[in-house]
Amino acid sequence: MKFPKKTVADLDAGDRPVLVRVDFNVPLEGDGPGERRVADDTRIVAARPTLDYLREQDARLILVSHLGRPADRDPAWSMTPVSRRLAELTGWNVSQAPAVVGPAVEKLAAGLDGADVLVLENSRFESGETENDPELAAALARLADVYVNDAFGAAHRAHATTEGVAHLLPAGAGFLLEREVTVLSSLMADPAHPFVVVLGGAKVSDKIGVVERFLEIADAILIGGAMCFSFLRALGHETGDSLVDEAGIDQARRLLDRADGADCLLELPEDLVVADRFDADAPHEVVDGIDVPAGRMGLDIGPKTAQRYAGQVLESATAFWNGPMGAFELEPFAAGTRAIAEAFAASPGTTVVGGGDSAAAIARFGLTDSVTHVSTGGGAALELLEREKLPGVEALDDRE
Ligand code: ADP
Ligand code: MG
Repeated sequence: MKFPKKTVADLDAGDRPVLVRVDFNVPLEGDGPGERRVADDTRIVAARPTLDYLREQDARLILVSHLGRPADRDPAWSMTPVSRRLAELTGWNVSQAPAVVGPAVEKLAAGLDGADVLVLENSRFESGETENDPELAAALARLADVYVNDAFGAAHRAHATTEGVAHLLPAGAGFLLEREVTVLSSLMADPAHPFVVVLGGAKVSDKIGVVERFLEIADAILIGGAMCFSFLRALGHETGDSLVDEAGIDQARRLLDRADGADCLLELPEDLVVADRFDADAPHEVVDGIDVPAGRMGLDIGPKTAQRYAGQVLESATAFWNGPMGAFELEPFAAGTRAIAEAFAASPGTTVVGGGDSAAAIARFGLTDSVTHVSTGGGAALELLEREKLPGVEALDDRE
């Protein structure tokens, strides 16, 4: 697939102020405004290719991101720890703006030279961000001559920093956004077959749309994680105290009906690991079958299921995975997820992983570099797979 939008390489950024929308929505640790530190800088590192390229062009960088879901301008959600980590990682002269927009920020932006980087405050400190307020977009546009969006994880949101401002400046995609959209779009447009999809995690209702799309395109959908309990309930099985997305049961029933007439197999576990409670020390055992005894909960797919699913992944030409197969954070319930991660790593075909917890799982097993692509965006990846378009991408300038 050819990326249809301008990228940072098509824009004239040299010696000009460039506003870059990055996804620096990183996990923080520590309490109190002065104590907060970045707990995982993966997303900061992922923006490096675009930022390095722009600095080689002598662009003057102005970075903007959201961080968490702050109430008002809660200083606990200031970007300060993020700009500090960026400076540590790069050695650049990074300064932290006191606000997102406004006269003081305009002055700082105008005073930048090529060596400096200015990080704006948390975009969600402005209520106009999520409302895609045209006045906030205009205020952002006043800071720069060029706009680059490299925030794939936020590209499914039509917010002022991801969508509104893109209409007001020459606008293109960063390298991370370009790669994410290209890989994920070609997965749906022209996958090599057999195409096997592995789905798990906690919620069915969030993922229903993308399952419908996969029923049209894939050859098999292998269901695990807590997600499988909505399907098992729809088929009349007992799920005990397992985590069940109740709203998902009707949706699961409809998907099972639809799968009946499709060329795609919708597959469910044949055995499960059940435990007394959600705890690494809880007594647990494998049950051969898919009925969870009363008072117990299913926390992983069983070994037969894991082996069957892994075998299908190994024989696939294309494989996509979203959602862990069990409560992998607890070692006794990590085997199913580990088996899928190892199969993805060993499969000779194209292998793509999307979803925050799925990406964390494959990283934990040390296999991130052994798959074709691990998406940095959970919601954005699923929405792109389902709808083929993201507002933050659509708003960029078309390639001539
Ligand atoms: P992703 O972020 O990859 O899209 P989700 O957020 O949908 O995945 O789900 C991940 C969570 O699902 C993990 O925290 C995991 O512990 C949980 N989970 C998976 N299977 C089970 C299960 N059988 N019971 C309880 N929690 C589960
Ligand atoms: Mg998640």
